[in-house]
Amino acid sequence: ALEVRNLHKRYGDLEVLKGVDLIARDGDVISILGSSGSGKSTLLRCINLLENPHAGQIFVAGEELKLKSGKDGALVAADNKQINRLRARVGFVFQSFNLWPHMSILDNIIEAPRRVLGQSKADAIAAAEVFLEKVGIADKRHAFPAQLSGGQQQRAAIARTLAMQPRVILFDEPTSALDPEMVNEVLSVIRALADEGRTMLLVTHEMGFARQVSSQVVFLHKGQVEEIGTPEQVFEHPKSERCKQFMSSHR
Ligand code: ATP
Ligand code: MG
Repeated sequence: ALEVRNLHKRYGDLEVLKGVDLIARDGDVISILGSSGSGKSTLLRCINLLENPHAGQIFVAGEELKLKSGKDGALVAADNKQINRLRARVGFVFQSFNLWPHMSILDNIIEAPRRVLGQSKADAIAAAEVFLEKVGIADKRHAFPAQLSGGQQQRAAIARTLAMQPRVILFDEPTSALDPEMVNEVLSVIRALADEGRTMLLVTHEMGFARQVSSQVVFLHKGQVEEIGTPEQVFEHPKSERCKQFMSSHR
């Protein structure tokens, strides 16, 4: 499970997150929707401390991240060991796949499990083979990222994330950088992960998909949770005017 309480983040004078609360229970798939600039990416990045929030609490699998005040009032890790351990439990899949270009797909996948989790090479490879099968690119294990299509690269990035045995996976627009014909192959991998009960936060503009796979939908507006509910509530019966507008302009 993952919980965020009263999360605040600003860039200079710009307040980007203004007290966000969010709970993802085990097995929840929470889609995060909102206009450009509403703070979706910032929220995900703060959860993983890729950005430092200015206030709030973050719990991963019931354990609170220990934070302390750092420069310019932002919160930084108070216990690097704990942060590294918990961060390894929160997978992140980016819009741009961020694979190492000079490593084969297999090497990309086994790198962090070996270095961070201390897995033996044989164990890491055995696990990687399973995840490569799962995302449907087992035949590409010895290829380099540039030799794969965008959809295949994103599936490799998902396999790499799975190899870290995450408790929660954060997806930030995982299909936005893909050609349209490759979107579905990535969405079907994410759907399979949802079906196996993974806990996931998903920022996406794929409304139909979000509606199908989510247990909850969050509509973020100017750094605040404007609306939250089941897909049916948020898509079909939004309460707030802004959410209504957003939904009608994204059909
Ligand atoms: P999009 O749908 O376009 O990806 P988003 O909801 O993910 O938008 P964020 O990327 O979280 O939005 O950005 C929220 C606000 O914070 C925006 O106004 C953005 O310009 C600002 N911002 C984000 N990152 C930084 C940064 N590193 N420095 C300064 N401002 C930033
Ligand atoms: Mg974004």
